[in-house]
Amino acid sequence: MKLHPLQLLSLFLTIPFLLIADLSTPTSFSSNLYNKIILDGNYIDNIDHPDTFLDFNYAERVTNPAQISAAVQAYSVQSDRIKVIEYGRTHENRPLYAVFISSPANIKRLDAIKTDIALLADARKINDSKANSIIKNLPAVAWMAYSIHGNETSGADAALGIIYHLIASEDEDVVNMLENMVVIVDPMMNPDGRDRFAKSLEQYRGTAPNYDDQSLLHSGDWPSGRTNHYFFDLNRDWFYQTQPETQGRVPLINAWRPQILVDGHEMGAQDTFMTGPPREPINTNVDKDIIKWGHVFADEQAKVFDQNNWRFYTGEWHEDLYPGYSFYVQFRGSLGILYEQSRMAEDGVRRQEGTIQSYKESVHHQFASTISNLKSLEKYSKQMYQDYWDGRKYNVSRDGEYANQTFVVLATENRGRINTLAKKLASQDIEIYVNTKPLRVGSTLKQNGETTDNYLIPAGSLVIPNLQPEAPLISAILEFDAEIIEPVLKEERRKTLKNGSSIMYDTTAFNLTMMYGLEAVTVNQNLQRDLEPWSIDQKAVEINKDALIWVANGVDDRSVPFAARLMELGVEVRIIDKESILSGQEFPRGSVAVIAMDNPNFQNLSSTVQKVASELNLDVASVTSGFGAEELPDWGGRHFRLLERPQVAILSYDDFSSYDVGVSWWSMDHYLGIRHSQINGSALNYTDLRRYNTIIMPSGRGFSSSQLSALRDWVRQGGTLIANNSSSRSLASDNGIGSVKQLASTFENSSDYNINLQREFEALNVVIDVEKTNDNKVDFDLAYPWENNKSQYSKQELEKRDAWQARFMPSGAIVAGRVDNEHWLTFGTIGTLPLLYSNYPILMTNRSSEAVVRIGELVDDPEAEEYRSINWSDLPPGKNLNVRMSGLVWPEASQRIANSAYLTRERVGRGQVILFSGEPNFRGAAQGANRLWLNAVVYGAGLGASNKIEL
Ligand SMILES: [Zn+2]
Repeated sequence: MKLHPLQLLSLFLTIPFLLIADLSTPTSFSSNLYNKIILDGNYIDNIDHPDTFLDFNYAERVTNPAQISAAVQAYSVQSDRIKVIEYGRTHENRPLYAVFISSPANIKRLDAIKTDIALLADARKINDSKANSIIKNLPAVAWMAYSIHGNETSGADAALGIIYHLIASEDEDVVNMLENMVVIVDPMMNPDGRDRFAKSLEQYRGTAPNYDDQSLLHSGDWPSGRTNHYFFDLNRDWFYQTQPETQGRVPLINAWRPQILVDGHEMGAQDTFMTGPPREPINTNVDKDIIKWGHVFADEQAKVFDQNNWRFYTGEWHEDLYPGYSFYVQFRGSLGILYEQSRMAEDGVRRQEGTIQSYKESVHHQFASTISNLKSLEKYSKQMYQDYWDGRKYNVSRDGEYANQTFVVLATENRGRINTLAKKLASQDIEIYVNTKPLRVGSTLKQNGETTDNYLIPAGSLVIPNLQPEAPLISAILEFDAEIIEPVLKEERRKTLKNGSSIMYDTTAFNLTMMYGLEAVTVNQNLQRDLEPWSIDQKAVEINKDALIWVANGVDDRSVPFAARLMELGVEVRIIDKESILSGQEFPRGSVAVIAMDNPNFQNLSSTVQKVASELNLDVASVTSGFGAEELPDWGGRHFRLLERPQVAILSYDDFSSYDVGVSWWSMDHYLGIRHSQINGSALNYTDLRRYNTIIMPSGRGFSSSQLSALRDWVRQGGTLIANNSSSRSLASDNGIGSVKQLASTFENSSDYNINLQREFEALNVVIDVEKTNDNKVDFDLAYPWENNKSQYSKQELEKRDAWQARFMPSGAIVAGRVDNEHWLTFGTIGTLPLLYSNYPILMTNRSSEAVVRIGELVDDPEAEEYRSINWSDLPPGKNLNVRMSGLVWPEASQRIANSAYLTRERVGRGQVILFSGEPNFRGAAQGANRLWLNAVVYGAGLGASNKIEL
């Protein structure tokens, strides 16, 4: 191959730059490491070689997003084999492309092809003979997507070459393949992250090549380029769909229903190359045919690697239980294929055996894998379509496993949240209905695992009969438990016992209704009657401008931004902290009230209220009298509590988990849209904290005593400190802030904690003997809770148990949260709140600190006649505790975390400390726990700290 003029130019450019910068010329160059040619076809002259868009030779360095975009734009006009669709924009306004490549004739009839694809997907609409005729004429469809993790760069570089190769090659094999195939290339799925990494490569580049994978050149800065603008892992977002990249991409993939979806990643630098199919656990909703085809594709790909003398493997750490990867498509009938190339950054990496693997070679692996998979698809497309059609028929068959199954999300006043859920489901082509009247149903499973044969579904619930085309996906995300087969459980337990390792790669629980904190049931029958299709309630918000009070329903999540945004505009806002009836309208506790009297000098108050409500599409009631019905709150009483505008700082930087920082930041911008600052947590001692009344401390570690003391002083002066996970661990340590402790340091006086708990239990279920109460004599028969249980564990026994149980902590399961339903932190929250739970700090509260949410749902158990001990805590007679809700929670872990606090709140000086044991904003999808966090952020300064009076 002749040298492209630009390649020559770049050779010359290197030397003058070095002379000007007064740096020495290195003794070697990485460009000499790898001599195989990636783009070795016969190409049409008038289509630009990728080098045209680069200032280096193709595949020798990392192409930045602007260069890839420039190439895609140019190719879109240079060839008639291509059509480029911009399917979205990132947070940083970079374009996201789907590049359709096929024969010119196919490119002209893309719409007709898409129509046939849609027909083939719905076996209720066509019969076998129609399906066969569609399959006969339908080209194969491949979706080839790369570098969703921005610092896993080689995939996108391969994509650039693939686009060129497919549109410019005159070789017969390429031309013939495109006659019968539509290849859709998504060259870079995360351009914001890639740009961050490309920039850091530029910044850490010296003169000599760097082959040390520990260097900053290879690792990049905090936060790494893996994630997007708000530090989200986009490859966990495919069904949560919280980010614009995913929101743009999913509907397009769903409309094209590709036969294969390739997802090109990178992994550790010292690894080799891994591809599908996965090993167990594999989600049981995936069709076995998909796994079968995965092996066929892998076999043919392996041959290519053998021929080139490249090492690779399948399976090993690659499992497939979590449906939120790109492989959500497998539930829709597409074969997902993962590439994991060892990461070479761009100079290459020195390996243990002494060789250096070049970046160019890593690009070549991705390129060759892509071509191999496309060739396999060309060969097997028709057979795969037949299997696909069989699967689609099965999904809507009355004899199928999904036929007698209906998922129901119970009606709620939390319209904001249920609308969000329904939109996510609808974007996956899931058909949703609402029941117009209450439905009496038989065999029904509740979220806590209990079943009943007689259940009344309230009118206005979301009803999803699973006799529909996307049944496997619906099951995967709405069934309460993903089935983990026994051999997998056994192997997991064996590893846990032996050395504490795990075969689970992501969370083992992901049920969408639990993540959303919405009550749901599964009915074992196909519901059809009294249903109408769901539609989003979008109506103009009207308020009475002469009202005394405007009130937003406190169950609806949108009431929180309603309060926050009004306060930011300077409006005085109150919370009604108890349920109330005003002007004949019922309001749950936590409803937000704007009183005209509070805002005598605010111009245009009613129109401001109307504007903010309209932005949120939130209904606001107009109240004309401040007197509540009967004993319920009146507007002058203590239940109308004044809020204080939150002035928020988020501690950030490399002491903190970038994921938790990112999702906290995103939650502020997504839900609230109010001003806040991210500040450098390691510079706390030099920061004027008086500007903030609310500080968010995402999960982090390694805080010095001076950092903690700066925060302690600030809290005592009235600050609200909100911490998550590892930061809560630090604050609950011996030199932390406040009195909350971690479990391990409470065994000495565990009975104090148990007595506290018994007080809580008795308050939940008050029993009195009126006669005895009114007796004037001292009662010598009084029994105290600590005397009721004779079999409590000693300190030594508790320590022994804890050491054993600690091995079994879950890695992303859902457990039941028992909610204090009188606390202001729990406005808008259901009584048993599902909580995503991992190896979090186990928080223990004493008298001065409040356990706002504890682990374990207290349920009746008529057979339990005595007090029973679970480690440090006792359960009263007649009661049992549900801990696990979904995913893998070993019984030992359930015992360990039972009755500990998930959320604590404690007054410290004039301020307060609020600790979350976990990460309440997890992946932007844990909406149930997120509400607790939003309450803390927006209401904390007003409801939990001393109100400040401005003189
Ligand atoms: Zn990756």
